[in-house]
Amino acid sequence: MKIEIFKADITEIQVDAIVNAANTSLLGGGGVDGAIHRKGGKAILDDCVKIRNKQGGCKVGDAVITTAGNLPAKYVIHTVGPVWNGDKDEKSKLLSDCYKNSLELAIKNEIKTIAFPGISTGIYRFPKDKAARIAIKSVKDFYKISEIEKVIFVCFDKESYEIYQSLLES
Ligand code: ADP
Repeated sequence: MKIEIFKADITEIQVDAIVNAANTSLLGGGGVDGAIHRKGGKAILDDCVKIRNKQGGCKVGDAVITTAGNLPAKYVIHTVGPVWNGDKDEKSKLLSDCYKNSLELAIKNEIKTIAFPGISTGIYRFPKDKAARIAIKSVKDFYKISEIEKVIFVCFDKESYEIYQSLLES
C-alpha cells in the first residue's frame, strides 16, 4: 500500500473512492460534504436517501457507500466523524473507526485506490494535528491494508498539508 498526500479539492480526484465527511442524516451539509453533493449531483443524494430509508442514516464512526454521480471517482464512501468537544479517548476512537470502517467498506467493494479528507477537522473542530496522527495510524494499522493499493490524504489547506508531510516523514 502506497500513501500519498495531495493539497487539493477532493471532488477533483480520480480514484476508485473518495471519502466524505458526512453527518448522521446523510442529507448533505457544509464543507467537503456540500462540495461533494454539489459537484456529484443528485444521484449521490438519491442513494443516500435510499440508505436512510433502509437503516435510518449513519452513526458516528460508521460508513456507507454510494455512487459518485458526476465526480471522477467511482464511489463516495460517507463516514460520520465525531464532533470535538475536548480531549476524550472516546472521540479519538470514533475518528479511528471512521477510517477503519471506510477501508472495510472499500475492500468489500473491491476498491483499490481511496482518498480521505481530514474527517472532523472542519466544522467538527477536531485539532488537525491530532486528527492527522489518528488518520495515519488507523490506515497503517488496518488489518487488511495490503488489499488496498493507494491511500491519498487530501489536504484542503497548507497547514494540514504540512502536518501530514511532517508526520509521514518522521
Ligand atoms: P467535518 O464536519 O467532519 O469537520 P468539514 O467538511 O467541515 O467536515 O471539514 C473536513 C475537512 O475537509 C476540513 O479540513 C476542510 O478544510 C476539508 N475540506 C473542505 N472542503 C474540501 C474539499 N472540497 N476537498 C478536500 N477537503 C475539503
